[in-house]
Amino acid sequence: MEFTAQEKYEFKRLLDDLRSKTGRGTELISLYIPPDKQISDVTAQLREEYGQAANIKSRVTRLSVQGALESAMSRLKLIPKPPANGVVIFIGNVDAGANRTELYSTAMEPPDPIITYRYHCDSQFLLGPLEEMLADKKTFGLIVLDRREAAIGVLRGKYVEPLKHLTSTVPGKQRKGGQSSHRFQQLRLIAIHDFYGRIGESANDAFLPIDAKDLQGILIGGPSPTKEEFMEGGFLHHELQRKVLGALDVSYTDESGLYELVDAAQEQLQDLEVTHDKIVMRRFMKELVSDKGLAAYGEAEVRHNLELGSVEVLLLSEDLRRTRSKIVCSNRSCDFTDSQTRSGAAAVLGNCPKCGSPLSVAEEEDLVSDLSKLADGCGAEVKIISSEFEEGQQLYKAFGGIAAILRYKTSHI
Ligand code: ZN
Repeated sequence: MEFTAQEKYEFKRLLDDLRSKTGRGTELISLYIPPDKQISDVTAQLREEYGQAANIKSRVTRLSVQGALESAMSRLKLIPKPPANGVVIFIGNVDAGANRTELYSTAMEPPDPIITYRYHCDSQFLLGPLEEMLADKKTFGLIVLDRREAAIGVLRGKYVEPLKHLTSTVPGKQRKGGQSSHRFQQLRLIAIHDFYGRIGESANDAFLPIDAKDLQGILIGGPSPTKEEFMEGGFLHHELQRKVLGALDVSYTDESGLYELVDAAQEQLQDLEVTHDKIVMRRFMKELVSDKGLAAYGEAEVRHNLELGSVEVLLLSEDLRRTRSKIVCSNRSCDFTDSQTRSGAAAVLGNCPKCGSPLSVAEEEDLVSDLSKLADGCGAEVKIISSEFEEGQQLYKAFGGIAAILRYKTSHI
């Protein structure tokens, strides 16, 4: 499943939150249940673990582990059958500071199917399998070739998948006795050309069915001048040809060459990751210095434009850590309400301007989600910008992490 920018952001925040939780001993339970697993089997295993936990020497840890297992089993009773992608359960007594612990428990359906069943007990939650799902699933086409051999594959996220291996009938440079040198060279060139043609066809078969927006680019590897000849010779479908990112030297042209090609292209692949963010940030900076008035920044101004429906692209820093709170009066007979953006729960709310009773928070939402919803409502595109490059840091530091490119000029507030 492909995540939207906002879903990805929310999933990332959840993982950050889970990562920060620790137990006193090995008492945090992580359960990864694949879609085809019988819940009754899982419960049976937990019951067995419960029995074995009786051997834990420390009384505190023992009670804590058994308590977590009990909660896990009662949670499972609510799940007659795992959902389509399976279910992940995190449960256990987490450190709550001030020498206290509190029972934490959450269950969720992951974005991708769970493949392997896991029962894991540690002082931290097991997050590796979920982190892997969050990792980029962008696809790159891979071609390695020389005049005798070629391999075609794809890179999906971090994984190379070899798809096809081809060999040629191109004769070696040494001609057989009796053949004219000219004739031999001609036949050799024809054979090379035919082989490139076959490689191109196989690559078209492999890459054209991939959704055009998932296929980020094509990398070609091999010795010189073979890879250049292939790259420039128009052997690929024109739509694929446009996506060629470059040619790199690799020494193998079988399956192992595909891995070598990915290693050689690391820098280019990483650059590409931030390129989309970079392009949109540059567009914002360009609008900012022009006099067309199509740039807005800061929460108040961007919110105003979202409400007007004038935002084309909403830019939010992924480091934005604030919440949008609905504030109400604690006096039930008073109808005062307000919305505030807060950083951290510690901020003092003060008293109701209408009746003087203390104010309290009625609802709270992550600011990124709050603004993204407004953007969805007016058809604006949402970009969650990484801070791992200069312009991304600038968005956070100079523009408060919130900016917008507008469809038309609006009045400032
Ligand atoms: Zn009041």
